[in-house]
Amino acid sequence: MANIRFQALQAVLTRSIPEVKIPSPKISDFFAANVFDKKKMKEYLSTEAFQGIVNSIEKGEPIPRDLAEQVASAMRSWAMGKGATHYTHWFQPLTGTTAEKHDAFFEPTPDGGAIEKFSGDALAQQEPDASSFPSGGIRNTFEARGYTAWDPSSPAFIMARTLCIPTVFVSYTGEALDYKVPLLKALSALDKAAVDVCHYFDKSIEKVNASLGIEQEYFLVDIALFNARPDLYLTGRTLFGHMSAKNQQLEDHYFGSIPERVYAFMQDMETEALLLGIPLKTRHNEVAPSQFECAPIYEEINLAIDHNQLLMDLMDRIAKRHNFKVLLHEKPYAGINGSGKHNNWSMITNTGKNLLSPGKTPKNNLMFLAFFVNTIKAVYEHADLLRASIASVNNDHRLGANEAPPAIISIFLGTQLSDVLDEIETSRISKKIKDDALLWQGIPKIPQILKDNTDRNRTSPFAFTGNKFELRAVGSSQNSASPMTILNLIVADQLRKFKYDVDKLIKKGEKKDVALLIMIKKYIKESKNIRFEGNGYSEEWEKEAAIRGLPNIKTTPKALDAFLSDKTSLLFAETGVFTEREAHARHEILLESFYKKLQIEARVIGELGINIILPAAIDYQTKLVENVKGLKSIGLSEDTYKAQLDIINKIAEHINHIKEDIEAMVDERKKANKIEDSRDKAIEYDEKVKPFFQAIRYHADKLEQLVDDSLWPLPKFRELLFIK
Ligand code: ADP
Ligand code: MG
Repeated sequence: MANIRFQALQAVLTRSIPEVKIPSPKISDFFAANVFDKKKMKEYLSTEAFQGIVNSIEKGEPIPRDLAEQVASAMRSWAMGKGATHYTHWFQPLTGTTAEKHDAFFEPTPDGGAIEKFSGDALAQQEPDASSFPSGGIRNTFEARGYTAWDPSSPAFIMARTLCIPTVFVSYTGEALDYKVPLLKALSALDKAAVDVCHYFDKSIEKVNASLGIEQEYFLVDIALFNARPDLYLTGRTLFGHMSAKNQQLEDHYFGSIPERVYAFMQDMETEALLLGIPLKTRHNEVAPSQFECAPIYEEINLAIDHNQLLMDLMDRIAKRHNFKVLLHEKPYAGINGSGKHNNWSMITNTGKNLLSPGKTPKNNLMFLAFFVNTIKAVYEHADLLRASIASVNNDHRLGANEAPPAIISIFLGTQLSDVLDEIETSRISKKIKDDALLWQGIPKIPQILKDNTDRNRTSPFAFTGNKFELRAVGSSQNSASPMTILNLIVADQLRKFKYDVDKLIKKGEKKDVALLIMIKKYIKESKNIRFEGNGYSEEWEKEAAIRGLPNIKTTPKALDAFLSDKTSLLFAETGVFTEREAHARHEILLESFYKKLQIEARVIGELGINIILPAAIDYQTKLVENVKGLKSIGLSEDTYKAQLDIINKIAEHINHIKEDIEAMVDERKKANKIEDSRDKAIEYDEKVKPFFQAIRYHADKLEQLVDDSLWPLPKFRELLFIK
């Protein structure tokens, strides 16, 4: 059989670029054409029904049955008009991806015919066969049912001739089995706490929502090459492969011109995304070869997360048309930059004010400072929980290694705002300031336009970038709802405490503005240790952070402990976002996913090592042996085949190492598999099984360098990374 690598390379050379059809050069002509948004609701519903649904959405109130009936009927007419035949509840189980179960609109009638139907009940609730989704022990077999329920705050859309209805996913006993339920609860906690604090400054504010813009990094690889790498298609990353002679050292890929094939894919993907109402705005090359990024304009957070989940799915579908595979793995190639998902987050009021945007007047700035400093304090208090919310086996390759971003959560503010906070900290604001003028002197001038571009720090996991914070430690394949639930929750909790502290001072007779400033100053002092402006990747920072007492937990099983700590339990109990059972269930699911993924990687390494890599090495070795025998038989001296003998020996050495290490790894795996406790099992996999990956790979990659190129069966890094 011909070498599969060469078959794949042949396929790559014959690729043609599919034609991309763009509905109109004016994006506004087709933006959200496949979304049942307010505009379509208005068109398909009676005025009364339209008002009813808009009110319910805005107030977050349950939708009456008869109204659901009308909406369902309107949705069906609209969707069928656009060619949809099926509908599905679309939800986000704890597997990290999205799930669907399609039902046809059509129903047979007693007279042997059929009609198209979609009832209010079918819109409001579904019971998918949920028993195969992870529940972390929440669902026992006797209560295996799970329900999906309509989330009207995220509009329905059509994908692949199917009307998709965004839903939450809960167990029969009411516990969250998905990412959306806790997010919505955290957002409602934030809304309440933030509005309360807003009222110190502006009584007209009625609602605060978080906004989010997600920058998504990804790699592209040709589908034929992908299919020739079992490690890639089974685990999402390459478990073997010597570094390419050229990789990212010339730094010539970043913002460079986009290869034509990739450009066609991007245009196609963007068109489909725009039709689905995903406001994709930017695209560019990333640092590593074949690495790219796209980013939408920020949206209300629940929608932004749904859109990102939808986008990841969409990218994969569109890539097939272009003979590409999208790699969303956090670290598909060792030695080359990994991928993340920058989460740009801020809080915005119903009056349109961004609470993280410095204002024009000192009074506005006091409001800005309140939200700004409380966010810093929240992250300082719960840095370990935020770290836990982004922990995964994939992300350990970034957070645990000396790569962007580090496992230590720190906050970058930029020199201007750092100086402002330092000034407040050392100012003479104290209780009993009677003179207003004196108070306002206590608030330093904050420039409205921050010169953030000059001192943007790319090494910080949590950076302030002008009018928003940017969490950069989120993994590229992760559901952003996990860290965003935690971020909104801890900020909500912190704002609640802030209000309590400020009210206490006011009750004691302090003027409101003085009380606010006193607490802001106190929080600045208390949370100072988490602020860091220097190089987050440096060794000095690791040492410095240790002295400051900041957590630096490099591996997932231990990072996840933060979900169950006393401090977290108190936070969860006070805010009601996770019950104790839900927190334990999530902890369990994350640990399970961690060791199961390592288990799969270990198996793949064993199989590829023994069945693909060793045979190739032995083939070449045999060829060399034949050659040596031949040279000897015609009477040449050993001197003339010195090189061949040397290679034969080296190959033998690496073969033996690989075989021994794989056997030792299997032994460790067997031991680990016997462990009952998930945390212990995950740690055993991490500390005893995983170290063999590197050892085995080292010898395999050496063989790659020794063996005849025409005999090597796996596509090499240079072939995977440079798109033709
Ligand atoms: P970069 O960080 O690469 O310079 P941008 O500054 O353009 O990129 O913004 C990155 C993302 O941040 C975009 O999705 C953008 O819409 C989003 N963004 C901008 N302002 C806000 C905000 N107030 N809240 C949330 N996201 C925002
Ligand atoms: Mg950014």
